[in-house]
This record gives sequence, C-alpha cells and structure tokens, in this order.
Amino acid sequence: MEMAERVEALRKKLNQYGYEYYVLDQPSVPDSEYDRLMNELIDIETDYPELRSPDSPTQRVGGAPLDAFVKVTHDTPMLSLGNVFSKGELVEWVERIEKDLGYSPLFVAELKFDGLAVSLKYEDGRLVRGATRGDGTTGEDITQNLKTIHSIPLRLNEDVTFEVRGEAYMPKRSFEHLNDERERLGEPLFANPRNAAAGSLRQLDSKIAASRNLAFFAYGLVSPDDLVASHDEALAYLERLGIAVSQAYTTCHTADELWDYIETYVTKRSELPYEIDGIVIKVAAYEEQEQLGFTAKSPRWAVAYKFPAEEVVTTIEDVDFSVGRTGKVTPRARFAPVSVAGSTVTYATLHNEDFIKEKDLHVFDRVIIKKAGDVIPAVVSAIVSERTGNEQEIVFPTHCPACDSELVRLEGEADHRCVNPECPAQLLEGLIHFVSRPAMNIDGLGEKVITQLHETGLVHNVADLYRLDREALLALERMGETSVTNLLAAIDASRQNSLERVLFALGIRLVGQKAATLIAEQFESMERIMTASVEDLTAIDGIGTKMAESITLYFEKPEARDLVAELAEAGVNLTFKGTKRPIDTDAPLAGKTVVLTGKLHEMTRGEAGKKLELLGASVTGSVSKNTDLLVAGEKAGSKLTKAESLGIEVWDEAALLSFLAEQE
Ligand code: NAD
Repeated sequence: MEMAERVEALRKKLNQYGYEYYVLDQPSVPDSEYDRLMNELIDIETDYPELRSPDSPTQRVGGAPLDAFVKVTHDTPMLSLGNVFSKGELVEWVERIEKDLGYSPLFVAELKFDGLAVSLKYEDGRLVRGATRGDGTTGEDITQNLKTIHSIPLRLNEDVTFEVRGEAYMPKRSFEHLNDERERLGEPLFANPRNAAAGSLRQLDSKIAASRNLAFFAYGLVSPDDLVASHDEALAYLERLGIAVSQAYTTCHTADELWDYIETYVTKRSELPYEIDGIVIKVAAYEEQEQLGFTAKSPRWAVAYKFPAEEVVTTIEDVDFSVGRTGKVTPRARFAPVSVAGSTVTYATLHNEDFIKEKDLHVFDRVIIKKAGDVIPAVVSAIVSERTGNEQEIVFPTHCPACDSELVRLEGEADHRCVNPECPAQLLEGLIHFVSRPAMNIDGLGEKVITQLHETGLVHNVADLYRLDREALLALERMGETSVTNLLAAIDASRQNSLERVLFALGIRLVGQKAATLIAEQFESMERIMTASVEDLTAIDGIGTKMAESITLYFEKPEARDLVAELAEAGVNLTFKGTKRPIDTDAPLAGKTVVLTGKLHEMTRGEAGKKLELLGASVTGSVSKNTDLLVAGEKAGSKLTKAESLGIEVWDEAALLSFLAEQE
C-alpha cells in the first residue's frame, strides 16, 4: 500500500535527521524541512489510525542520551511542545483551550530560546544536578558542564528544594567567535548556535564548555504547587532567587493580544543578542494546566508559535544565464517556488562558475536556501545525501547566450564576460541603467518601453534617446499622446543633468554613484575626465587603481569617445553643476580620510563607515598616503600591512567603539 510506504519513508528520514540533530548535534537539513516532514507524518497518522505506531517519531521526544554520560531519569518527563505556524492555527489552539476549560484563561507569552533544554535540581538552595532532556525520560548528567555557565547560580538566595527547567544557549556573539576560530583552525563549523550549545555541553571535558561562553534562561518550575500558583508567579519567583529569567515575557488574555506580542518579536528578533525560533504560549494558572493535561509528547496547556523559516529546502529545476550591462554572464537557479522568511522565492543568483563548483551544485539537486541580509535569496548548500543519481552537471556556456560570441574569463577573475561591444543584451542593460533613477533619471522609460525601443531598432545606443521623435514614438504599441509628451519632456529635462549623473550613467565598470560624484567634483568636465591618467584619478581620495584603470580603459575605446561626442551634440550637459560638498570644519573627523578593513563584531563596516561620515570623515576603500586613519577589525590583511608601512594611525574595534561612545 502506497500510504504505508510513504509513512515508512517519512519515519526513516525523520529518524535519521533526528539522530543527526539530537545525538550528533550536526543537522543536515534546516528545521523547516524536518518540521515539514513531521507535519506530513502527523497528518497521515491522523487520517489513517491503522498506520500509527508507538515508535513513530511523532510519539517520541528528542533523541537517545549519549553513552559517555551518566544517565539521569527525570522524575517528571521533559516534554516537547506542539507547534502552530500561523495566526489561524494560534486562534484555533486558543479556542480549543477555551472550550476545554469552559472560559478564557490568562496566558503567559515568552520567547522560545533556541538552545538546549536542561533540568537543574536544587536541594536546600544548592545546585546538585544538571541534566539534558535526552529522550524526555532519560537524560545525560552534565552537571560539571552546566556549572561553567555564569547565569546558573550554584547557590540560591533561599534554601529551597526544587527542579528548574530552562534553556542553555549560546549568545550570537559567542557563536560567531567560536565559528571564526574553528574556521581558522580548519575545524568543521557548527550549523547554528543551538547545535553549538548542545555540542559544547555534551563534552566530557568541562573546560571546553567553560571556554564557549554559554548562557541560560529559566522558563519553568517543576511541582511548585506550594511555592507559587501560576507560571508568571514562578518566573518572578525564580528571578528573586537569583536565577536568570528573560524579562521579555508578558501576560495576555486573547489570541489577538498574543498575536501582537508575536509580531513585536518577529521584528525585534534580529536585535536580540541570542537566537529565538518562536514564541511559547502557556496557560498561566497551574490548576488550569493540570486540568488540561498532556499528550504523549507535549503539554496541552502550552504551544510554540514557530517563526517563518529562514532556511528552507527546495530543488534546483533549471539554471539560466543572463548577460549584464558590463558583459558579465551570471548563472541563475530556478527553484520549485518555496516560502522563505515569509515570501515566495523562485530564483537565486549562482554568481559564477567558481561558486557552482565550490558548492558542487547540479540541476535537480535538493538545496538549502536562505535570504542573505534578509532580502536576497541565496543558495547555502546542496544536500548531498538526497542525491538520486538523476542530477545533471551545470555546464557554463562557452558562448554568449545573447549574441553567441565567445566568452572570455580573464586571469584572476571569477566572471565570464561577453566582450562584444555590440552584444544586444549588454546594450539593452546599458540603456536600462542609463535611464534609471540614480543615473539620468528619465521618468516614463521603464524596462518594458526601453525593451520595445531597443527591439524596434529605434534606440541602439544611449545617444539615440535624444534623437527620438514624436511620430516614431506614437507608432509604438501602448504609447498615447500624453505618455509621448511626458516622455519627451523627461528626456529633454535630463539634458540638464550635472556631470556626475552622466558619468555614472555611462556604466563604466566599477564606477558607482559615489565615485562618479567624487570624480565629477574634481574634474568638472567630461573632457578632462576623458584625458585623465590613472595617476590623476587615483589622486582623488576614494578612487583606487582598479577603478582608475577601468575608467582610462573605457575612454581609450573610440566607441566611447564617439558616444560622448554624440551626447554633446544632442545637447546633453557634460559639466559639473552641483555645489561641492561643504566641509563642516568643526566636525571631529573633518578633513580626515578613513579606511575600514577586517571583520567588526559590534556593527558592520558599512554601519561604522556611516557613523564616521556623520562625524565628518571621508570614508574610502583603499589605503594611500592620503589616508589618515585605518580601522582594522579582526583578520585585517593587506590594508593593515600597507597602513603600517606608511605610518598611518591604526585603531582596533575597541578604539573605534570608545571613540564613537565619546562622541555620543
Ligand atoms: P521544540 O523546539 O519543538 O520545543 C520544545 C523545546 O523548546 C523545549 O524542549 C525547550 O528546550 C524549548 N524552549 C525554548 N524556550 C522555551 C520556553 N520559553 N518555554 C518552554 N520551552 C522552551 O523542541 P523539540 O521537540 O526538541 O524539537 C523539535 C525542534 O527540533 C523543531 O524545531 C525541529 O525542527 C528541530 N529538529 C530539527 C532537526 C533537523 O534535522 N534539522 C531534527 C530534529 C529536530
């Protein structure tokens, strides 16, 4: 029977993933994939009761304890939590509770810390035993390791005897440090702080746990009837005794209030110094908890709302190759659509051939994807264990997909490029860039219209835009009188743009908006830029050799010079009109040129740069004799060596932070 086979397959996979996660602390798939398969199994077992089995992963908590540790039997089992994934499911859960109780109770909502569940036994106020959850009934005695965590008191303020449940976790910063260090030593990296915390606590040598900077939050008291009457009272009580309790919890009466709390933490989550993977909701009063009871695996009086998955699994269905405005050929993977962090993803760039090789990606591979920087979909890795043999190699084209001319890959470069200056794909991308908002800012020339103009042959190069006439535009599909009038007016207005816009709009490799402005400010006319040497250009703070070479190379080409002449003839302004940026001479870093390098921990280099610019500094990318200060984070390389050889002042991150703090 097909359904029985599916159940078998699901159980096998879930058991394998559970073993990797709970026992080895080394998951091979993201939690979302495990949850997806688990939910499918739960659904089938609900619909086909004859397929249920007591040894199904749906009926079991956690994984087997490691033999290396002394086993501990939990007097009260350490259970898992039921999950909800949407507001609808949360409302249903609340309604079920209200129905079972006959009224609506008070709830406590708290963070779901992403670490390892531990039990702490205190006798007469002294910590006597700390254990993992294990399979819920039998855990591992990890007292020595837990004693290394500063937020777990060895002695309480009162001589009480009870068991505390809570989460041992690894703060984000400790996790980053640990993985940086492991990378440096060539050791395998931990997939996430949860696995790193679990891996650290399940070590026989407690010096290892001590070195890992772990922390702990308590979230429950076992059999506390005579001490407190509800969960919120318990949290306040634990806090008074000196045990770390997160202050983020709140009490709520309705599903709407609970949902508000959840939404707050969906946003705040990234700012927290530790990982959370959801919100836990508990019925507050112990009497009501007792009345509601337990299933085999979890309490009925609590539930976890799981945040939308940040990493998910999907399949690469195809790879296409597109040509950008600089001729760069970019491979792009198409996926079976999948929801990541709340939005549907169908494509992600695969960057270049090296990326594909390094990640060993194939068409039809099952892959883990995430949103990098929370926005851009990115492929994390292929799941090698899921290969079926039907995967196909991704073959990088030897010829341009748009014009069929042979692609080149320059030495030392990762990109394949089409170097045909007449390549239609490059021309089109160049046109789209030229009219875009940060460039010439021509309203009414969206991608569709530009493509139409290009395909009908009306516009071949950017100068053609200034030769468009009314008649020809009116003859195009979907172009009425008004839009043509507006478009011509917008094109005409762009003739008055200042030089930096035109320079940026030309789309010279490596020349961004900021660099275009610096150059235009300095040289003031296109004529002078065209004749500038590499030395002339690099004399400007912020213009490095590579960019300068790219500019001179560009203007060496007769086509480029012709194009500029055509623009001039079409009446496009080629002089600098903007006012030079005023220098606030009172700003603490006025007139100072600063370069940032290496890895910073408290903020990104971009953020640090912005803060320094606000204080008057001019932040540039390369070290030269004009540099006044180098901020060198961890693993700073050649820039630091160069700065030192030039005798430039160097700050480490601590110096930067204390300087910034002084300025606040
Ligand atoms: P769970 O994450 O579903 O929930 C129970 C746990 O939540 C408790 O044991 C406790 O440790 C924790 N918790 C955190 N904050 C809490 C709070 N405030 N109150 C109460 N409990 C709190 O736990 P589970 O049953 O261990 O496992 C399921 C999870 O593990 C899922 O997220 C699943 O995706 C993941 N998992 C992943 C893989 C994989 O291969 N990626 C394999 C197995 C399990």
